[in-house]
Amino acid sequence: MKDATKCLHAGYHPKNTEPRVLPIVQSTTYVYDSTADVAAVFDDPTRSLIYSRFANPTVMAVEEKIAELEGGIGAMCTTSGQAASLLSVLNICNAGDSIISSSEIYGGTINLFAFTLKKLGIECIFVDRDATDEEIHAAFKPNTRLVFGETLANPALTVFDIERFANIAHEHHVPLIIDNTFATPILCRPFEFGADIVTHSTTKYMDGHAVQGGGVIVDSGNFDWTSGNFPELTEPDESYHGIIYTETYGKMAYILKARMQLMRDFGCYPAAHSAFLLNMGLETLPVRMKQYCENGLKVAKYLESCDMVESVRYPGLESDPCYELGKKYLKGCSGVISFVIKGGRETAMKFMDSLELASNEVHVADIRTCVLHPASETHRQLTDEQLVAAGIEGGMIRLSVGLEDIDDIMADLEQGFAKARG
Ligand SMILES: *Cc1c(COP(=O)(O)O)cnc(C)c1O
Repeated sequence: MKDATKCLHAGYHPKNTEPRVLPIVQSTTYVYDSTADVAAVFDDPTRSLIYSRFANPTVMAVEEKIAELEGGIGAMCTTSGQAASLLSVLNICNAGDSIISSSEIYGGTINLFAFTLKKLGIECIFVDRDATDEEIHAAFKPNTRLVFGETLANPALTVFDIERFANIAHEHHVPLIIDNTFATPILCRPFEFGADIVTHSTTKYMDGHAVQGGGVIVDSGNFDWTSGNFPELTEPDESYHGIIYTETYGKMAYILKARMQLMRDFGCYPAAHSAFLLNMGLETLPVRMKQYCENGLKVAKYLESCDMVESVRYPGLESDPCYELGKKYLKGCSGVISFVIKGGRETAMKFMDSLELASNEVHVADIRTCVLHPASETHRQLTDEQLVAAGIEGGMIRLSVGLEDIDDIMADLEQGFAKARG
């Protein structure tokens, strides 16, 4: 099946007389005929459902749909993108381990990696996306467990060279985890370029309508966990009567451990109703992505020609430093643009406050056009040094072009610039 068909049909296959639309199974629990039946499911939770802290039929249908869209073998939804990033790491890292991450990633993930993981005893070494191979190799240590990057970085809008980083990670027998939020599987499938695990904040384009937060982890099933680097997967899990995930579940080891162990313990599993809403967003994802890309490119071209604009980052522009990488990895560059307005922080705020159609909000990749000022909002907690490393300047504005008529979007930007100039 092609993407548009998968978006409508994958994950839920109603039989004779069953509902056409994915049902909301709003139940925390499931009944069994006997104690022995329940015991058997505790022995092997993949047999059936026990409890909605870690599995629910509505959520699982959406998990299957997203896994199919990414070309993976399994997926697990979470209550937020942050929870997906956290669990994707904790699934294979313990205190005393280290990870390598691109420095151009979402601000929330920088906080998580640089501060919270550190408190848990996991060190993160940040590398430049365009560091040389030698520099990246030099960041590896004997305790490095994974490499992390973002397909299309939020808010830097740079493109991550997935294939290059995957090859380097694999030389060190560790997986590459890619946050594919902005691209969505419609614009890029990181597994096709060698990534091993994909995460998403489904809060953004996948949901698309700003109605509920969520995240997902998808497993390609391609990574070999048995190099000795991942005892969590290859040695008995005491908390699960000695199960060895790689022996019992083979290619599904990573994603099933995430559910059986981490989701059991952390419990950040979405409600059935949230998954139902996410599914509705996914149904129209290909149509929406196409239009976002079209509107995004038009606005990016306009901004590039605008005398109030110092620079524009949008990999769909031929002048963009990531244009070639964008051509390789992306089937379109989404509706998110970041640009630097002349006059710095003050003019940026004046421009943003003058917009009438575009809303000033902490969100991105929404169906409605919105703007955000990274330096004073999402990336407020970062030091000036970290801001530079994350590619953020005081005059930088992140513009998320929505699905309104392009003429109305342009008119709003024009009047905003006129007021900011005055
Ligand atoms: C928003 C975002 C996240 C965090 O997701 P939440 O759903 O807000 O927790 C992670 N990565 C990227 C690229 C994001 O844009």
